[in-house]
Amino acid sequence: MTPDVLLQTAPIVRPDKDRFLQEENPFEAMMSRFDRAAELLDLEPGIYKVLRHPEKQIITSSPVMMDNGDVEVFTGYRVLYNTSRGPAKGGIRFDLNVTLDEVTALAAWMTWKCAVVDIPFGGAKGGVICDPLKMSVGELERLTRRYTASIIKTLGPDSDVPAPDVNTNERVMAWIMDTYSMHVGHTVTAVVTGKPIEMGGSRGRREATGRGCMLCTKQALAHLGMPVKGTSVAVQGFGNVGSVAAQLLQREGCRIVGISDRTGGVVNPKGLDVDDAIRYVQQHRTLAGYAKGDAVTNEELLTSEVDVLLPAALENVITTKNAAQIRAKVICEGANGPTTAAADAMLDEKGIFVIPDILANAGGVTVSYFEWVQDREGYFWTEERVNEALKEIMERSFQAVLNLARQHKVNMRTAAYMLAISRVATVHRLRGIYA
Ligand code: NAD
Repeated sequence: MTPDVLLQTAPIVRPDKDRFLQEENPFEAMMSRFDRAAELLDLEPGIYKVLRHPEKQIITSSPVMMDNGDVEVFTGYRVLYNTSRGPAKGGIRFDLNVTLDEVTALAAWMTWKCAVVDIPFGGAKGGVICDPLKMSVGELERLTRRYTASIIKTLGPDSDVPAPDVNTNERVMAWIMDTYSMHVGHTVTAVVTGKPIEMGGSRGRREATGRGCMLCTKQALAHLGMPVKGTSVAVQGFGNVGSVAAQLLQREGCRIVGISDRTGGVVNPKGLDVDDAIRYVQQHRTLAGYAKGDAVTNEELLTSEVDVLLPAALENVITTKNAAQIRAKVICEGANGPTTAAADAMLDEKGIFVIPDILANAGGVTVSYFEWVQDREGYFWTEERVNEALKEIMERSFQAVLNLARQHKVNMRTAAYMLAISRVATVHRLRGIYA
């Protein structure tokens, strides 16, 4: 998202920000899945305790001179959840809803995600409580630089490598890279990923998460003996992840029968033209007014009769309130945390095959890994090479999770957590405890 678009987005502040419903508390959602997997793995109590705690939580106060001459102080966080397998990796979000609990949960998810796809990173996340809607580009730049300076000791290509997340983008990554480089006295491109291609970004990074969703969906359809051609798909969220996933699935022969964004959705049982919808959003910013089908609400889209449902917008959209009404055969979780832990069991009962977020949307961090590798090599790959390497990792990871699911007779989510936790635990056993 560009800051210009970002400045036009309406702020949404959860009224219950400090008191999430237990079902929707992100750290609890992560931990309940972690506990189940740890129990099945018979994880030894010591390692269980280590993996249940974040390694480091940093709280920052960043004073920023606003355009009107006033000084504002912004609270921020950077959480390094686990770095046993390599440098911490995880995005930075600018949002009014940021809490330490949420950042910690997202950092843990990053740890498991990197382990599921077996890339040599640990997990981290950062966030600053701010309202980008009310800030000028200059204020955003000053905030970014001051926040970067306050976490500079943990940052570095070998220690902690941020990336974009909600309301941060390539431009913000460029400011972080520049601030870090000024501090160390030379240009260090590998300190962040998701950068502009002109300054060390990777080809294929923008499409990587949606491409990973497409690859996982195809694997799931093959496993279930369902054809790709003509398979109906509904996609919630038509941003970076959702629109690319829809476009690539359509190219593979799927019928995209529903799409939605924050303004609502549109369905057409005969299939929508995704390229046309993308052009519409480029012109009008949202899907509002897109008339190539029938208008539906997001809730109706989620419960529509489709083969594949691809939530790619927000967390907590499939809950105990609507899980019983979901009619899809496959759910591919493009978003982070779209399904609550309590809803998992209801989806299982209905026999819905869920490709969990830590596998389904891992294409993004995988190509971030390629970006870091290219920056360190100083040699840049073609888009074909990036896409080929991504395909190999996504397919291998999907099959590894599926094999574990079959072996332990568990669902794909539990299997993905088991695979991730066992990989992280193995490294802890090999490294031992320092001092
Ligand atoms: P984005 O900002 O590009 O797009 C988000 C989309 O969701 C927009 O179309 C927006 O209108 C829609 N949306 C927002 N609120 C909504 C609501 N209440 N109901 C329906 N739609 C709504 O964001 P993105 O980068 O596509 O990320 C989407 C999800 O995927 C997030 O959960 C993000 O954490 C996750 N994710 C993204 C990446 C990545 O590489 N971009 C990687 C892994 C996971």
